[in-house]
Amino acid sequence: MAAQLILKAGKERSVMRRHPWIFEGSVDQLQGRARTGDTVEVITHDGRALGRAAWSPHSQIRARMWTFDPQQSIDDVFFRRRITDAVTWRRALPELQGQNGMRLLHGESDGLPGVIADQYGDTVVVQLTSAGADKWRDAIVSALQRATGCTRIFERSDSDVRKLEGLGLRTGWLLGEGLSSVLESASAQGGEQALTITEYGINIGVDIQHGHKTGFYLDQRENRRLCGQLANGRRVLNCFCYTGGFSLHALAGGAQSVVSIDSSGPALAQAARNVSLNPNMAVAATDGRTEWREANVFDELRILRKAGQQFDLIILDPPKFAPSAAHARQASRAYKDINLLGFRLLAPGGLLMTYSCSGGIGHELFQSIVAGAASDAGVDARILRRLGPGADHPVGLAIPEGDYLKGLLVQVGGA
Ligand code: SAH
Repeated sequence: MAAQLILKAGKERSVMRRHPWIFEGSVDQLQGRARTGDTVEVITHDGRALGRAAWSPHSQIRARMWTFDPQQSIDDVFFRRRITDAVTWRRALPELQGQNGMRLLHGESDGLPGVIADQYGDTVVVQLTSAGADKWRDAIVSALQRATGCTRIFERSDSDVRKLEGLGLRTGWLLGEGLSSVLESASAQGGEQALTITEYGINIGVDIQHGHKTGFYLDQRENRRLCGQLANGRRVLNCFCYTGGFSLHALAGGAQSVVSIDSSGPALAQAARNVSLNPNMAVAATDGRTEWREANVFDELRILRKAGQQFDLIILDPPKFAPSAAHARQASRAYKDINLLGFRLLAPGGLLMTYSCSGGIGHELFQSIVAGAASDAGVDARILRRLGPGADHPVGLAIPEGDYLKGLLVQVGGA
């Protein structure tokens, strides 16, 4: 019989509102024995069953709900149903028609805490970050293979959050080992990319073994597309460019020039390869219209300002400055700094696409930081659009923590 996790009195409320996390302080006791990742029944202090969860004795999040239905079994069939459902509704999304790079499983917001899966062509990359997800690896992999028909599945469970769950880091092929030799010989030659996706007509190579996250920032797909639509005739500055996604869309959209900055050498090397994957951009890459700078954005923006440079479209897509609310104050200063510098570099009438992917910075706070930056820069500015991730990165309404990516398209006043 499964062990029972008994909640303290009053601590059932968040579970009843369908929030999947049960913190250490909410647990009264565990009756029976459970090992890391085992399924336990979740019971209120007065004996009501609330559902089933994965037990994680090393984590502050002591259990994560798999289901809010106490009758539902957690087994291969459960994972097959959840995963088939997640893949099916995404494939019906209008915005994903014709796309071959997309998020398939988005953790808690797909009812699968700790399970991330991204599709890159016929390869799926999974990242398992919780004890429960780790336990059910085989079921998850076989369900993903059935639901997608993919031929290769690679694991990138090398996120540090696994350490909080008492799990080691793991990477490697789970299905279709054949590609390893392809990838290895490709990287040995330092060239040809084995995996390429096409995002609204732009070819982008993805290094699933060494790239950030599972290889690419799929959450910004719709925003990169918007950038391409806005870029025509503009001088574009792409800050925190990673492998050049926004820059490539800007070039395809007819930008007059594109300057891209990132501190990562390998990301910029991939960006250069990405240009060559798009033959129509090869000219732009060599005629002085594009420039890739390996630098710290905080310094480089000051250098551009001193040099008297101006831009018509600036993208600010920094890494997570505030992983949690505890870092909000320090992170706010960093966001303010880059946005202020961004406003100072914008020509009259120019556009700023500015983002925060920090869970610890809410929409309102982010907007007020950007407003403060505009005011300090002495510019009038208006929000043209509020921006966020594509629909393949949904936010469970019960789980505000999942609402991490926020952005604004801002225009400054004319001369
Ligand atoms: N816009 C990108 C994703 C950006 S991720 C896309 O669409 O794919 C954030 C990037 O910021 C990473 O590539 C990281 O290398 C870079 N980075 C982090 N800190 C930096 C800094 N201080 N200066 C420049 N780049 C930085």
